[in-house]
Amino acid sequence: MLPLIIGGLCAAVSFAAGAITSHAAGEKDRQAAKHLEKVNADLISKRDALEKRYYELSDTSKDRVSDLQRKLAESELEKDALYLVVRLQNSLLLLMQAIDREPSFEVLFQFREAVNQTNAVLTHLKEDLIPIPKDYFSRNLTRAKTKMAKLGETLTEEQKLLLHQLLPTASEGCISCPSCCHQNAVMKNVPSLKCGGCGNLIDLINVQHQIQWNAKTVPSLAAG
Ligand SMILES: [Zn+2]
Repeated sequence: MLPLIIGGLCAAVSFAAGAITSHAAGEKDRQAAKHLEKVNADLISKRDALEKRYYELSDTSKDRVSDLQRKLAESELEKDALYLVVRLQNSLLLLMQAIDREPSFEVLFQFREAVNQTNAVLTHLKEDLIPIPKDYFSRNLTRAKTKMAKLGETLTEEQKLLLHQLLPTASEGCISCPSCCHQNAVMKNVPSLKCGGCGNLIDLINVQHQIQWNAKTVPSLAAG
């Protein structure tokens, strides 16, 4: 269990660090950027320290450490891992709010990876997952896209690829293209989209009755 947790945790911190660094680089609020950088440096140093101690313990030959000493060292490591997970969760929630103020494609993509990785670790630890509002990604992707359009910028090929990867999980529904029947992901409050199959523009307002919205997950209630 310990190798799985430490390995997953170190990977999750790396993803989070990438996302925080990217966001801080584009953050207009200098104070907020400085704070994020500080949080990030702290996360990285804690990760490196944990990783180092884990490898040291793994490298120690059996005859030099008693079983008891090893067990104690392992439980110490586990405690530190839990402590780091909590810091990681807090850092990601902080980043989530920062992105909400100034969303961009790359950061959203990296943020999602960091959240997925962290949630995988939290699942191993049987802890609650990071609470991301259901519409968080679709809402901020739409805002990022609108912002670019206002600036007269178009998506680069790389950004289009990122969007394509993000949309299926962020989509709120789907529409079958009237021309080629390709299934396209749909987000709320988007008036039109370019079909991923034939490239035709689909006017979503005209065909809104054909959009299949994702069913809301209904919480199961215990029978009284
Ligand atoms: Zn089509």
